[in-house]
Amino acid sequence: MAEHGEGNIKVVVRCRPLNSREIARGAKSLVRMVGNQTILDPPEAGTAGAQAASGRATERKPMNFTFDKSYWSAGPRDEPNYCSQQTLYDDLGKELLDHGFSGFNACILAYGQTGSGKSYSMMGYGADKGIIPLTCSELFVRVDEKKAIDPHINFTVEVSYIEIYNEKVRDLLNPKNTGNLRVREHPSLGPYVEDLSKLVVNSYDEMMQLMDEGNKARTVAATNMNETSSRSHAVFTLLLTMKRHDVDTNLDTEKVSRISLVDLAGSERANSTGATGQRLKEGANINKSLTTLGKGKAEEFVPYRDSVLTWLLKDSLGGNSKTAMIAAISPADVQYEETLSTLRYADQAK
Ligand code: ADP
Repeated sequence: MAEHGEGNIKVVVRCRPLNSREIARGAKSLVRMVGNQTILDPPEAGTAGAQAASGRATERKPMNFTFDKSYWSAGPRDEPNYCSQQTLYDDLGKELLDHGFSGFNACILAYGQTGSGKSYSMMGYGADKGIIPLTCSELFVRVDEKKAIDPHINFTVEVSYIEIYNEKVRDLLNPKNTGNLRVREHPSLGPYVEDLSKLVVNSYDEMMQLMDEGNKARTVAATNMNETSSRSHAVFTLLLTMKRHDVDTNLDTEKVSRISLVDLAGSERANSTGATGQRLKEGANINKSLTTLGKGKAEEFVPYRDSVLTWLLKDSLGGNSKTAMIAAISPADVQYEETLSTLRYADQAK
């Protein structure tokens, strides 16, 4: 597994604790993690889990999957194997920042059913900061460090935040712009969103303010449409421009990199009978991009254009990019089917 994907792609699983609703239903935990393995036991006969899965294809034996990492966040926080927000950032976020500062694109995607912990891992809640705040914080620390070492270097950090719902793009940093934005393609710079706000930020606090505003805009829009935001993808993008002036040659160099942090729509709708063909196709394409990236094969054809999300992420899911996928799961037996389908999906992405 270590050589997997030549280091360009990591697929990890994170298991959250049982929630109060699951506990109230008498749910039992079916997930075990041993090293990098995630094991899903079948629901026991006569339990709430067996009832929830009744009539559906349930495996009778424990299902065993191996990932780059299996993160246990279901038990007490003081247990040695507990995966904290900081651990997740240290393992995934840091490496992507290194890659970004080297001038390459990087991407983290969170996959899983609604309520499995995608937003918790990406944004976090309150003091439990997720990968996005931790990455933003470290980004400015690094900018200051590099500027202190080299007075001829300059950085610009820009942020954009969009939501993709039913193949339509909305600008979360400009909620007044209620219309949908067009996705276009620049001949050399690739796919982009027309008229999208890209705001220059100078500090961590400014960045967090924008993230919060964007999250609010997302919630308001979902409420207005009688929907939940779990049906849309949220893409938070950091654009890092590094300019350096070489005093000896009097030349300027510029490197631009993009770090995309993606909270995917709840995966349950892609599996249920109500799923649109579009969502299924999109899920398959994300997977295909990751597999292609993992194999380090440029020649394998990925139909990025088939969905707005993969089209916009084309330059972050291929080539010299680094990508991590976090598959978020619940340990509860009542979620058995969704958990199994998330683990299978993540397994194929490797
Ligand atoms: P999603 O974004 O997948 O719909 P959330 O991230 O909102 O799900 O998580 C649902 C609930 O579970 C939230 O209340 C969140 O605080 C809690 N939760 C998720 N992951 C964890 C975790 N690793 N540790 C503790 N609580 C978690």
